[in-house]
Amino acid sequence: MAEINRDLALAKKILDRGDLVAIPTETVYGLAGNALNEQAILKIFATKNRPAFDPLIVHTHCMENVEALVRSIPVAARRLAEQIWPGPLTLLLPKKSQVPDLATSGLDTVAIRIPAHSLTLELLQSLEYPLAAPSANPFGYISPTTPEHVNQQLGDQIELILDGGESQIGIESTIIGFEGQQPIIYRLGGYALEDIERCVGPVSMLPHSTSNPQAPGMLKSHYAPRKPFFLRSRESLNKGYREGAVYLLFSEYLPDIDPSCQYLLSETGNMNEAAKALFSALRKLDQMPISQIFAEEVPNTGLGRAINDRLRRAAAV
Ligand code: AMP
Ligand code: MG
Repeated sequence: MAEINRDLALAKKILDRGDLVAIPTETVYGLAGNALNEQAILKIFATKNRPAFDPLIVHTHCMENVEALVRSIPVAARRLAEQIWPGPLTLLLPKKSQVPDLATSGLDTVAIRIPAHSLTLELLQSLEYPLAAPSANPFGYISPTTPEHVNQQLGDQIELILDGGESQIGIESTIIGFEGQQPIIYRLGGYALEDIERCVGPVSMLPHSTSNPQAPGMLKSHYAPRKPFFLRSRESLNKGYREGAVYLLFSEYLPDIDPSCQYLLSETGNMNEAAKALFSALRKLDQMPISQIFAEEVPNTGLGRAINDRLRRAAAV
């Protein structure tokens, strides 16, 4: 099993020699390696069992470093960066050649973000290179929001998990690319669509696909528990108990079903709390002695859109 502590000097030592460390961020825990070192990048793909066509997000701590890695920054991107960074936003920007093609799966754009987590920002400041860090889970499984989640699945493959507590947002970053100056959402995430549009006006969405070359990694099936997982309307869920089932709900129990097999994401109906609880809840239910998980969609506002995106993809086969 990996060590779980806050030893930044040890983290730097491991990263400097091209190995990997799990790092906390406000979205989910990341599996980090030197983004400019091809060997380290290969280790990330191998450790996660991630297909090479699924590009990584590069993390740094300041705008100066972002500018050093990209050829240009659209006006809207700069505005978003100023408003949201450090925060749960990833921008797709044209990369300079020093960013290895391996990190971007051969694409001309690099996904880049400044995360809002003090321990990881301190680590990034101590390094001479940015960190490539996808979520620290085996490919396709539920993203980790605590050090223990990382240890359960990748603990025998890495030495160190930096302990930054529970991820405060709990859902991956919102990813935005650009067509010319026009922002396009590639993935809904921890910064709400409404707040993005307040910053840069209306934005369009890229559709998910298993084969859309514009959207590598935007696989329809993702974030999936190992147990059969189904999304259903509240009315149909309430129609009678299903054998071996547990129910994942937003904020209210189903009146006609035994409450002991129901799990609420937020008893007060708070969407941010629900986002923070989502991945932990999916893991917990996946480990229970039950045979199937049923869920309802949450209201489609704020982070609810990103939650529903994850639920749909968890239910996709
Ligand atoms: P993860 O770090 O596991 O949340 O995965 C990062 C995701 O960012 C990938 O699955 C891709 O969907 C997306 N991504 C990263 N780089 C690019 C890029 N250059 N163009 C489009 N999507 C990207
Ligand atoms: Mg991921």
